[in-house]
Amino acid sequence: MAIFEMSIMARVTWNLHSLNNEGTIGNVTEPRTVVLASGEKTDGISGEMLKHIHAYNVWLLQEDKSKFCSACQKFHPQRADVNEMVKKSKNQESAMKTAIASCILCDLHGFLLAQTMSLGRPSTIEFGWALGIPDKTHRSIHVHARHFMVGRSKEELKAGEEESEIAKNEDGRGKGEEKQVTSQMVYHRPTRSGVYALISVFQPWRIGLNEINYSYVISNEERKKRFQLALNAYKAALIRTEGAMTSTRLPHVEGIEGAVIISEKNFPAPVISPINNDYLDQLEALNRDEKGLSMKKFSNLADLKSLIDELMLHEIYELKMP
Ligand SMILES: [Zn+2]
Repeated sequence: MAIFEMSIMARVTWNLHSLNNEGTIGNVTEPRTVVLASGEKTDGISGEMLKHIHAYNVWLLQEDKSKFCSACQKFHPQRADVNEMVKKSKNQESAMKTAIASCILCDLHGFLLAQTMSLGRPSTIEFGWALGIPDKTHRSIHVHARHFMVGRSKEELKAGEEESEIAKNEDGRGKGEEKQVTSQMVYHRPTRSGVYALISVFQPWRIGLNEINYSYVISNEERKKRFQLALNAYKAALIRTEGAMTSTRLPHVEGIEGAVIISEKNFPAPVISPINNDYLDQLEALNRDEKGLSMKKFSNLADLKSLIDELMLHEIYELKMP
């Protein structure tokens, strides 16, 4: 059987991270806050950030960078919009064909053309916000101080030395030392720990598919390579999550558990938020009598890794057109 779509639903425990923030105003960095249907506020990591992390791993794990367009080779966010071959295309159909054929990232993660024509390719990989489960998420703001010695120029130092020499002669201590001033900058940085509900959908049937005329522009063999690369990028992104502030707030990954739903017919893989305590039971009930849908659970990173490795061996669904 060939994979049409798959959905990943997980609860990830990240300790003491700051993977995504609203921004910095002055010296205060604000964490992301989202509001749930209940009106409750919680911590969140945006889908944009998670998609960016996945896309970066696609770029990183592809050894032959010539399989990317000139923009994606340098991980430039404009993607196909600055691809010279795409710019020369006469119509939407050929622009889409060229963009997909010449770049793995443009194909998998989508793009938007604005310079030469208005044309967009939706991503084959989707992420929702990672939501902090309200009673399992904690935040704190840490004050971080940087100290600077306010230095003096060589001339001033020389003058200071001379001055201190004179001063020593007068009262026995160097005036130059008194001139050393310490400056302190105080930063307010958020740190969060929590269990996060993560959702993602991957649509392998759309890999290499030109959705202007609904034909595949690359071989099935090439489509499968791109599918395997996207799966590998999921693995890398979850095994070590690199987001904002990881230079000083690298997340302490405590664990991950959840399920992958695989759809092997032209029917969407269902998504139920892991924010619900019974999400696995609900998914099980949904899949029980649905032919073509299967569910695979995982309870740690190693389980998830072997599950993804096993999925890589599958064929991918091919759209049949008359
Ligand atoms: Zn590209």
